[in-house]
Parts: sequence; C-alpha cells; structure tokens
Amino acid sequence: MLLGFQDRLFGLTGSGISVESGLATFRGAEGLWNGYRLEDVATPEAWDADPELVWRFYSMRRRETMAVQPNAAHRTLAAFEKRLGDRFYLCTQNVDDLHERAGSQRLHHMHGTLFQSRCVLCGRTFADSGLYERPDSMPKCSNCGGVVRPQIV
Ligand SMILES: [Zn+2]
Repeated sequence: MLLGFQDRLFGLTGSGISVESGLATFRGAEGLWNGYRLEDVATPEAWDADPELVWRFYSMRRRETMAVQPNAAHRTLAAFEKRLGDRFYLCTQNVDDLHERAGSQRLHHMHGTLFQSRCVLCGRTFADSGLYERPDSMPKCSNCGGVVRPQIV
C-alpha cells in the first residue's frame, strides 16, 4: 500500500487476524469449551454464577495465547505505525496481546485485555498473566483483598 505524507490510517481488527497464529476465533465452529457454552464462561452472569469456572476458561485462553506468536498481519500493522507514527491508530476487538508483541503501541482493546485483571471492589487494574485453574488459586486484590476478575468486557 502506498501512503503519502499526510495520510492517516485507522485499523480495526478482530479474532480472524489471530487465527493464522493458532488462536481459535472466540466463537469457533463448535462454540463450546469443555462442554460449556461460551455464554456460561464469558459473561457477567457466568461470573456471578461460577467465578472459578470463568477463571479456568480465561486461564486456558492465557495459556494458549502465551504459546503462540504474532503473524505477518500483526507485524504489518506494527510497521504501519512505525512509519506513520501518530497518524496511525489501531483498534482491536481481540483480548490477546499479539499486536503489542508485534510492536504496536498506539492501540485500543475494545473488549479489554487477557493479561490484565481488575478488582471488583476497588476497581484497581493490573498486569496479570497468572493461571487460576484450581479453586484455591483464585486471585485477590493486593490493595483491598477484593475478588479479582479478568479485565474483559
Ligand atoms: Zn481492590
């Protein structure tokens, strides 16, 4: 793509861009995780009903994401940013960190990020790559002791 000096570029990406890296789209063909519907592990209602199940689901997604690498599409968008600077902005529906790992810095995650967590009591958000897959491993806020959830919409 030829870009002139004054051009601005806005990128919008979704789960399809990460498929080439090996991450399944959020709503895959089967639409199930361990026999659970996605609505049962990735909604506010799911959190209220069974936060440990929600954490097992997001821990699995963290593990899968940590095991893959950005692909050529992620790297190309990072190269646009490097070339255009503040005339480029990226908005992604993805919660994975593959854009950041490819070098993108000017981006917004519309649905939150997989590697941040949020205290439901005090609202503190923090970087978190922990895997909380056992009932006794549920994270607590280091600020107030409140329950911590994935920072995902
Ligand atoms: Zn807190």
